[in-house]
Amino acid sequence: MGEIHVMREGLLPPGPPKRRHLISITDLGKEDVERLLGTARSFSRSLEREVKKLPTLRGRTIVNVFYESSTRTSSSFELAAKRLSADTMSIKAAGSSVDKGESLKDTILTLAAYDPDVIVMRHPQIGAPQLAARYCEAHIVNAGDGKHQHPTQALLDLFTIQEELGKIDGLQVAIIGDVLHSRVARSNIQALTMMGARVSLVGPPSLIPRGIGAMGVEISTDIRSIASADVVYVLRMQRERMLEGANYVPSLREYAARWGVTPERLRPGQKVMHPGPMNRGVEIDPRVADAADALIEIQVRAGLVVRMAVLYDLLTHGPVAVRELEPEGVA
Ligand code: ASP
Repeated sequence: MGEIHVMREGLLPPGPPKRRHLISITDLGKEDVERLLGTARSFSRSLEREVKKLPTLRGRTIVNVFYESSTRTSSSFELAAKRLSADTMSIKAAGSSVDKGESLKDTILTLAAYDPDVIVMRHPQIGAPQLAARYCEAHIVNAGDGKHQHPTQALLDLFTIQEELGKIDGLQVAIIGDVLHSRVARSNIQALTMMGARVSLVGPPSLIPRGIGAMGVEISTDIRSIASADVVYVLRMQRERMLEGANYVPSLREYAARWGVTPERLRPGQKVMHPGPMNRGVEIDPRVADAADALIEIQVRAGLVVRMAVLYDLLTHGPVAVRELEPEGVA
């Protein structure tokens, strides 16, 4: 009887490319980030032309499902898809069947029936994007899940820093405020440290998660420590995520007095960023928000080209590919 040889995987004909998702910054390596920022730069140049629409994703369908409120993220994903000529559809939980008690699984199964290529999802629960990846064939992009991750925000922040300061490696970035409830902080700490920046966290002890030092960041409760930073990244006080009755800070007035970012606490030339929406007069003084060194509107502009780059990267199977992630169980 002849021997049976098991063929080594490398000798088998290539199968169809696996589905890729962008759920967390940890799905990306440094080369992925560099490639995405490079693609975003090309798109940014293409938007300087009079006709801004590119035919790149013609015939593709991109669905945005937002279970939490959003202005910047939802509008930029929608415009990004349109600028790339994809068909796009946006669903907000309010006014949809979610209002009638439809579960996330059933909503995803319903949308899956239209065979979308990408589902962009924002959800208050950690792990919702992984759940979506289990129930449909689309690529999933996490547009924010609870206080867990917001990878495209971190990418647009990297893009902004790179464009405005010429580099990321070696810079010092101070992240100030409500780190405890912030998916932006978590994604940015991972993204900035991966790209060689030094990150420090500044805020009241009650809003700095215990054990976060293990992510390679310095921690301070003294607002004066922001003086040495190249970039001062201000977080919103996320009152909607604060447990009822828990007194994280004595009052917003007290918070503003001790940790609010004011012109007096900055030195000339320091760049100020904020993911929006801002609570003017709480975490950020209006004079800082409107100053020339604030990059807040530039961040919004960067959001469009970075999200175009992410959609393009996921949908063009080739060397340009966000590293694949197998769907996991929902947390
Ligand atoms: N817009 C950002 C987010 O969705 C930041 C914030 O809401 O404070 O996480």
